[in-house]
Amino acid sequence: MLVVAVLTGAWLLGLLPGVDTTGTRRTVPSPGVEASDGPLGTPLTPTAGGTFAFAQLQDDGVAPVAYDPCRPVHYAVRPDNAPYGGDQLIADAVAQISAVTGLRFVADGPTDEAADEQRAPFQPDRYGDRWAPVLVTWSTVAEQPDFVADVAGQAGSLAVSLGDGPDVYVTGAVELDAAQFADILSRPGGQAVARAIVLHEFAHLVGLDHVDDPTQLMYPTTSDVLGFAAGDLTGLSRLGSGACVPAL
Ligand SMILES: [Zn+2]
Repeated sequence: MLVVAVLTGAWLLGLLPGVDTTGTRRTVPSPGVEASDGPLGTPLTPTAGGTFAFAQLQDDGVAPVAYDPCRPVHYAVRPDNAPYGGDQLIADAVAQISAVTGLRFVADGPTDEAADEQRAPFQPDRYGDRWAPVLVTWSTVAEQPDFVADVAGQAGSLAVSLGDGPDVYVTGAVELDAAQFADILSRPGGQAVARAIVLHEFAHLVGLDHVDDPTQLMYPTTSDVLGFAAGDLTGLSRLGSGACVPAL
């Protein structure tokens, strides 16, 4: 039984109305960086049953907004304030998300960029001519006032589109509460709880929303569920089957 119920919020970075590539100063990277002709991996076959919800839907109201499976999802970690073993928590979550969605992740190593809800998705001076990598931070309460409460983390991604094309996630952020993780990890059984929370946040990152079903990992508070259940897996599998959009 868990002592503290830890809320974990989804964090939508918003939706750009479209991408303007005609200006004199580029506000987006060159199109198709690292895009392959086909998906880089294969999602797991969905299991039956369970509930899931997507953070954002396409205009058809059915298909989820997802990352482009034909190119890798880069991520960079700001190591400041990380708890002992924090890197491994992130690596384990990324490996699991990748195995279920088929999305290929690439670790870009450390960054000194801080979390910012107005974060620019294209930062050529820092990251070069490509969409900025997903930013993972261990934030303090001073940096993220939401962490004063029981919130242990938040995550979300930014979708862009070209005209009538599908919305596609191009970057995102995972913000983890440094102090709360240090506390959780110090408790008996805390390692498994910490792993579950990071996994939950990375599921938000790739496009899952909360469900009102305590048997799923995407239930908004921590429970006895410490890994993906049937609904989580089905939703993640769908999120690994998004459109390839090399024009972005
Ligand atoms: Zn959550």
